[in-house]
Amino acid sequence: MAGIILKNLTKIYPGGNKAVDDISLEIANGEFVVFVGPSGCGKSTTLRMIAGLEECTSGDIFIGGEHMNGVEPKDRDVALVFQSYALYRHMTVYDNLAFTLRMKKVNKKEIDSRVRQIAEMLEIDHLLSRKPSALSGGESQRVALGRALVRKRKVYLFDEPLSNLDAKLRSSMRAKLIRLHEELGATFVYVTHDQTEAMTMGDRIVVMNKGRIMQCDPPQKIYSHPENMFTAGFIGTPQINFIDGTIPPDDRPVKLAVRPESLLLNCESEDCIYLGSGKVELVELLGANMNVHIDLGKTSVVLITEADPGIARGEVFHVSVRPEDVLVFDSQTGLVMEARSYAAV
Ligand code: ADP
Repeated sequence: MAGIILKNLTKIYPGGNKAVDDISLEIANGEFVVFVGPSGCGKSTTLRMIAGLEECTSGDIFIGGEHMNGVEPKDRDVALVFQSYALYRHMTVYDNLAFTLRMKKVNKKEIDSRVRQIAEMLEIDHLLSRKPSALSGGESQRVALGRALVRKRKVYLFDEPLSNLDAKLRSSMRAKLIRLHEELGATFVYVTHDQTEAMTMGDRIVVMNKGRIMQCDPPQKIYSHPENMFTAGFIGTPQINFIDGTIPPDDRPVKLAVRPESLLLNCESEDCIYLGSGKVELVELLGANMNVHIDLGKTSVVLITEADPGIARGEVFHVSVRPEDVLVFDSQTGLVMEARSYAAV
């Protein structure tokens, strides 16, 4: 059993920089959790504290129920996979993969079976006799991943392992890592600034900002029920639309938030809330769909709709939304408001 518990974890670097600010989280054994947030929000520091490479300033870390503060990285049974993981240039791919197992005096038969299993999963089994100089960037990256994964561990920690790859390779590696997680049955903690990786890979997503956890939920819940404006704005492309509003009885300022796919053009239904009308400023054709940017005067909105030659720059449209597709946030606290608290809008 190797669940992870973080209790009131804080990291203040020398000089006073508070990189991680009192975070608490329980990760179940075998779960795939993705930490996502803007650069500098404390993701890597959190991961490095779990790995034991960085001391916590305060708080506690448990892995598999054992208190880990002060335990050496090598005694934590975790693997940490970095973005750039150097390969031994003079060794074949096979020997690169076998290296750590040989160092651990694992028997030859077991080494061979582990190396071939990992190579097959990562689709590098045809490259085993090559040297790194004869590999493409994507192949090297997969060998590097294989090297980190070949030793059986209870916990695998990933720090942006795919960020050097091009978009197509990233997407195929995402799928491989998801399969690998299923096959290994180990706990995966994965750090990325890329929301697509977070949305597609995690059982749960931990959204971080300025050293704090903003929300921790399954991807669909993060998307459809963000608890605060930060989470709503960070997850989703194009970004969710924020529109200023007020609610009675005291004209309290709020932000209405509507996903681009929920905005409607020239909707005639009485059930729709009319948000304004304006000219199309820009159309981005994406194939089957398009992004349409419309200037509503006090604000601009982006909506996603099916590609339609009738929607062109300069045309004027009414923009509206169904009430159930509107999220309302308190402008001051940034927190989502319960539907009943603004039912009178
Ligand atoms: P992320 O992984 O989300 O990009 P990091 O955990 O790397 O963020 O960094 C969080 C904050 O801590 C940033 O402000 C960063 O500059 C700072 N930081 C990271 N490492 C160190 C360090 N070794 N010394 C001082 N400050 C650091």
